[in-house]
Amino acid sequence: FLGSNPSLEHDFAMSSGFVINFSKKCVVVSGGNRGIGLAFTKALAKAGANVAVIYRSSPDAEDVTEKVGKEFGVKAKAYKCDVSDSKLVDETFRKIHDEFGPITGLIANAGVSVVKPAFELTREDFDYVYGVNVFGVFNTARAAAKLWKENKQKGSIVITSSMSSQIINQCGPNKPLTQVFYNSSKAAVSNLTKGLAAEWADYGIRVNALSPGYVMTDQTAHMDKSIREYQSGAIPLRRFAEPEEMAGQALLLLSEHASYMTGGEYFLDGGQLIW
Ligand code: NDP
Repeated sequence: FLGSNPSLEHDFAMSSGFVINFSKKCVVVSGGNRGIGLAFTKALAKAGANVAVIYRSSPDAEDVTEKVGKEFGVKAKAYKCDVSDSKLVDETFRKIHDEFGPITGLIANAGVSVVKPAFELTREDFDYVYGVNVFGVFNTARAAAKLWKENKQKGSIVITSSMSSQIINQCGPNKPLTQVFYNSSKAAVSNLTKGLAAEWADYGIRVNALSPGYVMTDQTAHMDKSIREYQSGAIPLRRFAEPEEMAGQALLLLSEHASYMTGGEYFLDGGQLIW
């Protein structure tokens, strides 16, 4: 088949040496100081990007980020900013633009969960989860897009959603993991991805969602062992992912290799959604 199409044959040959190069790029990663976000920060730095990390309160965020910059010989700096505060987010993006030069991409990755039975959830829990997972993503995406529109610049946004945008996770047979605000916020942000992709396509801004299954981070560390074992049994690949296994897809979506991809949601779930 490949032999019948010279251009495909060429692409295939190119893909055997597939390289994503981010030198001279500046990417903002919210929640880039730990967990999945830190894996993004490291992969971007390794690919040559300068990285601006946004964090909420971790005391070691600035040191962790600086260390990544030193390890890979790029500029990397952490900015303390609550993504649910739109004014602060706009100010932080302008500061990053002034200190780094034009931002070229964003990974809107910061996310939180409250695990409690629905009968016990409060308005505060709702505001907290939706404030970060939906409004926080919206704030960071719009802050980047405003700068790109002003500077007549193209850009790419990757939003970390979750496979739970589609399903209710179980912690035992027919027993839900009790986090209805989290799951519904991820469904909301996956839809938000499509809406922003549609609105901003004319400005040359692409928006895609990357939806992990279970990943070994602080967010899953609270699960007790029996739940983790039950969950792993429900995953065709029979294990949780390592944060580093999320990075390749995120970099691909950010890069020009994905120039015809927008409004999509891509699942990295070890096959869990098959069932
Ligand atoms: P972690 O709990 O390990 O890290 C969360 C990150 O988000 C931290 O860097 C934290 O900053 C930052 N953050 C939280 N709230 C805010 C805020 N208000 N403003 C700015 N930054 C904030 O999360 P994971 O790495 O596990 O998850 C990353 C993303 O992936 C999330 O969106 C999550 O929902 C999603 N995801 C995770 C899965 C998993 O199994 N782990 C599965 C599917 C999706 P600080 O360190 O300062 O607190």
